[in-house]
Amino acid sequence: MEATGTRRRVAEHAVASLEVVLPCVSGIYGALVLLYLVAPPLTPAWPYVVSSFAGAVAQLVLAWCVHRVPIRFIHIIGLLGALVGVAHALCFVAGTGDPSQTVVLVMVLLGSAFGMLVYWTALVTVGTGLLAWAILAWDFPAPALAHWGVNLVGAATLAMVISTARIRALWRQIALDEELRASEERHRQVVDTALDAVITVDTDNVILGWNPEAERVFGWRRDEILHQPLALSLLAPGDRTNYAHGVRDFLATGESPFFNRLIEVTAVTREGCEFAAEMTMVPIRRGDTFVFTGFLRDITSRKRAADELRLAKDAAEEGAQVKADFLATMSHEIRTPLNGIFGMTELALDTTDDDERREFLLRARACASSLMSILNDVLDFSRIDAGHLDLERIEFDPRDVVDGVLDTLGLEAERKTLELIGRVDERLPTTLIGDPGRLRQILINLGANALKFTERGEVVMRLSLDSADEESDPSSMVLHGHVRDTGIGINPEQQGRIFESFTQADSSTTRRFGGTGLGLAISQRLVALMHGTIGVQSTPGCGSTFSFAVRVGVGNTAMPMLPNPAAGLRILVVSRNATGAAHLERSVRECGCVPILAPTPASAALLLRRNTPPFDAILVDLPAGNPTPELGSLDPLERRGIPLIVLASSGVRSRLQHGVRPTTVLAKPLKTRALSAALAALPHEAPQRLDTMRIGA
Ligand code: ADP
Repeated sequence: MEATGTRRRVAEHAVASLEVVLPCVSGIYGALVLLYLVAPPLTPAWPYVVSSFAGAVAQLVLAWCVHRVPIRFIHIIGLLGALVGVAHALCFVAGTGDPSQTVVLVMVLLGSAFGMLVYWTALVTVGTGLLAWAILAWDFPAPALAHWGVNLVGAATLAMVISTARIRALWRQIALDEELRASEERHRQVVDTALDAVITVDTDNVILGWNPEAERVFGWRRDEILHQPLALSLLAPGDRTNYAHGVRDFLATGESPFFNRLIEVTAVTREGCEFAAEMTMVPIRRGDTFVFTGFLRDITSRKRAADELRLAKDAAEEGAQVKADFLATMSHEIRTPLNGIFGMTELALDTTDDDERREFLLRARACASSLMSILNDVLDFSRIDAGHLDLERIEFDPRDVVDGVLDTLGLEAERKTLELIGRVDERLPTTLIGDPGRLRQILINLGANALKFTERGEVVMRLSLDSADEESDPSSMVLHGHVRDTGIGINPEQQGRIFESFTQADSSTTRRFGGTGLGLAISQRLVALMHGTIGVQSTPGCGSTFSFAVRVGVGNTAMPMLPNPAAGLRILVVSRNATGAAHLERSVRECGCVPILAPTPASAALLLRRNTPPFDAILVDLPAGNPTPELGSLDPLERRGIPLIVLASSGVRSRLQHGVRPTTVLAKPLKTRALSAALAALPHEAPQRLDTMRIGA
């Protein structure tokens, strides 16, 4: 292989050198023709001169062509060269009138033409030329000899140019053969080292190819099985028939489900043991028939692993089911006595006035309540996980849901002196269809977390519509929920984990705030059951916003439009809290009234003194933290005789009793329905329309 390569390289060098040398010789030939013209010629004959020149040019062109065009074009050009030579001879005879010279000329030309066809006959050409020259040398004068010498060189050059082209073509062929051999060798190595058994068979089931992996898998040695009609014996009876039908179909129609795809078969070893295998059969055309190459892999161990995995999965699922059942049963069993504890504690509370005992009983009730909420979470979680939780589909008003959540979380917000605000987008229909209990549970989970992780500021809960949601079906819509707080926030890396069950943002959370790490996991699963998603955006130290979107149905129970008795009333809204003021303004507007905002009691008093515009009522938001400035200003406000509506948490409400007596006291967190009722109950005259005004302090 190496020696052949070296020989080829040497020969290629030789050919390349000839390709340089030959055009030079051609050039010399042309120069000699010219020289011959300036020396005293035998008989100056212009046609002869022209044809000599044409011969030289033809050889140069030929030398160039050797590099550029296929060999058959070179032959054509060579033939043209020979025709030029014939014309040359005829001209010469016409010029000298000596027919004996024609014989010599024709010999030279025949030699050239022959040299064009068989490359190694360049020697013949040269020999014929020499012979012609010798004949001429016998009785011709020197100028004629020079003329024939020149012609001889020309003919030899022509023949050698063509020979070189033939040699080149030959070497090209040798190179192609070598490449083919190398590629076959590479292919054989790939097949020999393949991890699949590679088997080639013909249409009569005779084995034509058998690689080492096939030897290993089937136990047949290559020399035993090659050229034997044993292909069918490599498959189990069922697959044998399929394969035979597959081949028959393929040969008849050119298609078969057995070929060109991965299929599972049962293969048989030399000893008759069956094993599971994955196989791809590929038809390859060979002449006017086909051979089939199969790639086959023993998948026994993989199948065993898959079986084991399936068994393990079944066992795990069974275990999970047992666990879920256990949890459900246990939770249920614990809840029954716990309810007993609740009942007894309530009874004991009703029957004792002893403060110390009441304190103990209240603590016992709080502990039982927290245990109950943990149990409920665990029960819910195990039910959802086991796929046993079914959602209701009933009509509900989203405003009722938010009001219910505010009722539940209001006390905790008051205890922590946090503003708790619940808003429902006024564009939301009054009748939605879904599971209000579970929606409430999601909002309570998020709201309770928000209150738990917030020390000061506010928690705002919102249900809304997003106009970006395109609804093709008017009977359903996407309901968006947001719970925003101004609490401790969550690190970006913790944000991804908190929705996992039993996971808290960091290990100190349990110590500081308690909790099981189940609330968000349950919320996420409930949202998923409602075909929605939930996520969080948070900045540590600034607060978090949990958002979810769920699909709900839209009911078609249109609420009758009742006349609004409060429509057009001018309400002076006094609130120090920006979010609270915005909420009140929107709520007042939703009730059909005109809000006029005053950020402080002092600015409200200023407005009242001017009494422009005249107000129909004053709505004062008493802050949970320190309501003293507002409380101090209520008295003069009240004395003006304008109805006073006070919004206060229960702690602040008890302080009110000793001072002013407002027309109406609304409980915090504010529910729009309660405000609407309070406004509707106000006495009022024909109102003027006013826009919202904000009065500076
Ligand atoms: P739990 O509150 O019972 O620990 P959750 O699943 O409700 O369990 O919450 C998981 C964790 O996510 C919490 O322990 C807390 O670290 C973090 N988290 C949830 N809500 C908030 C929030 N509003 N602000 C800060 N951290 C929160």
